[in-house]
Amino acid sequence: MRALCWEGTDELAIRQVPDPELRNAQDMIVRVRQSVTCGADLPLLAGRIPYLAAGDVLGHEFLGEVVEVGPEVRRHRVADRVVVCAAVACGACWFCRQGLFACCDNGTAGAPEAESAWGQPTGGCYGHPARTGGFAGSHAEYVRVPYADVGAFTVPETVSDDRAVFASDAAPTGWLGAELGEVTPGDVVAVWGAGAVGQLTAGAAVARGAHRVVVIDDHDDRLRMVERHVGAEPLNYRYVDVPTELRERSGGRGPDVCVEAVGMAADPPGLLGGRVGGAERPLALREAVHACRKGGTVVVLGTWTGFVDAFPLGAVMNKGLTVRSARQHGQRWIPTLLDRMARDELRTEHLATHRLPLERGADGYALFRERADGCVRAVFTP
Ligand SMILES: [Zn+2]
Ligand SMILES: [Zn+2]
Repeated sequence: MRALCWEGTDELAIRQVPDPELRNAQDMIVRVRQSVTCGADLPLLAGRIPYLAAGDVLGHEFLGEVVEVGPEVRRHRVADRVVVCAAVACGACWFCRQGLFACCDNGTAGAPEAESAWGQPTGGCYGHPARTGGFAGSHAEYVRVPYADVGAFTVPETVSDDRAVFASDAAPTGWLGAELGEVTPGDVVAVWGAGAVGQLTAGAAVARGAHRVVVIDDHDDRLRMVERHVGAEPLNYRYVDVPTELRERSGGRGPDVCVEAVGMAADPPGLLGGRVGGAERPLALREAVHACRKGGTVVVLGTWTGFVDAFPLGAVMNKGLTVRSARQHGQRWIPTLLDRMARDELRTEHLATHRLPLERGADGYALFRERADGCVRAVFTP
């Protein structure tokens, strides 16, 4: 089959790779219909997360059609249209039973690498190196889906592919942001980053009854989307002092919940020694901590892999802030999100600003990385 592979720092190419096969009784094979770029791919592309090998297939947010099921798969049949959670989890271990699917003990083939980096292994993710899975990615014609009953969800008939594909990762991550922030009616919420995750976090905060939701970015095209599609307030950081402006918009106190949805990918590449071990600069996170009201909550949603430089721990301690973070436990929220999509309460298709055949994957990532031509997410069709 054809697949979009990492070829070494910043290089992508279409390669012929072997078709995936069922390896376990709970596996299924999905023929990919749509696969989306994600900010979490950028540190991988830049070679900033070790253990990715040349020839590895990228991509983790996808939707497709079931073509083969293992003997123990109960919830899916051949020809089902499914969206697959980007996170790989077994559904049976202690962590999965607590609903902490992204912390699954059995979701990764690369436990030793994760343990050395983070102290404990975490759950897996498609299209990531051994540390977080070692599972081949979705920018391909076919994907092997392990734990199919746990991680794949049948898409309601009325929900289009273009909408449902975002239930794989961006929408559950956005939902997670509002959940970790424990957003309640009346809250003022600020979100740094108007990419797909930032927009969907803002949307989730609106849905939970937040009084005001402000999204901070420097791309006016993205900020216009925030106004039009999310119903949140845009704030372009090029023109104002963000903490001052946020205080103005929150009765002089500062936002109750500050969500960082930028991650390390926004840092200039090459500046920081490249790989894990070099410090990652938390510019947006630092501002979120600074702007948050005393006693408020700061949520870290962006992608981080190693150590962070100049994190304002003094502000966290003295202001009594709560800092929370996670990767998405989508298995918990995808059914609800698909229902919301079916009721037209959650719309995501505007995030797919560019649709390209898989063959043009390298061009798609170039647009996505540079945020060129208004690109929020590029969607590939194999
Ligand atoms: Zn993603
Ligand atoms: Zn598990």
